[in-house]
Amino acid sequence: MRFPLALTAKIAAHIVKHRIKRTPKFALVLQLEPLHTCNLTCTGCGRIREYSTNLKDMMPLEDCLHAAKECDAPMVSVCGGEPLIYPKIEELVAGLLKQGRIVYICTNGMFMRKKMRDYLAAEYSARLEPVLARLVEEKLITDKDLQSIRKGKKDGRPVIRPSRWLYWNVHIDGLEYTHDLIVEREGVFRECVEAVKMAKLLGYQVATNTTVYKETAVQEIEDMFAFFSSLEVDAHTISPGYEYDAASKDMVKRLDKRPEDFFLTRKMTREKFKDIEQWGDRFTIIGTRVYQEFLAGRRELTCTAWAIPTRNIRGWKAPCYLMTDGHYAGYQEMLEKVDWNKYGVVDGVARDPRCENCMVHCGYDPSGALSTKLGDTWKNLAYNFSAKPKPFYEGRKVNAFNGVSIGKGHLAEAKAAIRTANGGCGGGDSSQRDALLAKIADNKKA
Ligand code: SF4
Ligand code: SF4
Repeated sequence: MRFPLALTAKIAAHIVKHRIKRTPKFALVLQLEPLHTCNLTCTGCGRIREYSTNLKDMMPLEDCLHAAKECDAPMVSVCGGEPLIYPKIEELVAGLLKQGRIVYICTNGMFMRKKMRDYLAAEYSARLEPVLARLVEEKLITDKDLQSIRKGKKDGRPVIRPSRWLYWNVHIDGLEYTHDLIVEREGVFRECVEAVKMAKLLGYQVATNTTVYKETAVQEIEDMFAFFSSLEVDAHTISPGYEYDAASKDMVKRLDKRPEDFFLTRKMTREKFKDIEQWGDRFTIIGTRVYQEFLAGRRELTCTAWAIPTRNIRGWKAPCYLMTDGHYAGYQEMLEKVDWNKYGVVDGVARDPRCENCMVHCGYDPSGALSTKLGDTWKNLAYNFSAKPKPFYEGRKVNAFNGVSIGKGHLAEAKAAIRTANGGCGGGDSSQRDALLAKIADNKKA
């Protein structure tokens, strides 16, 4: 079957339980943001612009665990900021697993190998030597790492170990050139690939997490799925980019870009996602068939943002992961006090102008899962229970390292532009070079 039976059964049982109890609104996935600090400054990220990124401003571990219990979502997506910077991430993951939840660690991948080395050190015994030899051979750990792993780990803290209830959910927005450009740092894509390889070798479950922007080419999305499928990645999440206030303002101020040049309108989303059902047949795309039909423009859905609530240091964020009209002390309080009829798009008409172009998974994927129409339930079941697509090993031929690895990163381009401007006799148009240099300067400052 497409997704592991235990996971599907856990989520299905949760939905059935609430259907029997006739609960009007309940949580399916908790988006837990223990902190908003991040080591990257991705274009389009609202979090690091909307909230304080000071390390002092983070949720205590007890509040994180309490939030999961309070909304009782079967699945918790630990995001942020970069969750691997959270000082008690190991305790948080262990605590959520102990509560019987499915855990997704939504990471930019930069610290994954460090966390997996900790796991190896905690587990070290002579039996691990063949695995370690393979990791060294594949250059996924260094000789120095090897020595440190052999010393073991004696601080008594938990580690993030492989589990059928746990996924690394690695942020990948394209192949090397595009991804490094979006995260505004070269080398990030390569590190993500190494981390994914190491995770698969150690038996972790891995998913990729992709946001599609206006600039993202459809062919590149397919190539990206093919490439990561060849690395035996277990699943992919994909969602259209949304123009939320904090990200738009940053784009104008810092990058001098117009948000409308970057984010997708509904019409554009449907164009980009018109083949999503075929992608779903070829690759293990997480989500419901009904949501895929919605993205492809073949049906309408009504937003059910309350089913994927967001909890962060300021409370329960309403109405959704993207928009902030308030924070509440409790999940039930948020459900009761927010006028949910003010939000979403119904039959093509936006109830709130800010919702007009939104088709994101955190608003609409649960709408697909919670549909009470018999036909929809059947479609979702058929999608879930159909055979899991096999790894697409042909994907190894994809030219994934098409950026800085071949001297074509955005910094390399800027350097080339400087050389041309100094030594050439062009028309004097230095706008492209200036834009690139300004961006590099801004990144350094950040
Ligand atoms: S890695 Fe995630 S949290 Fe960090 S800047 Fe990028 S999108 Fe934002
Ligand atoms: S449609 Fe729903 S998820 Fe999208 S911005 Fe509006 S309230 Fe948020």
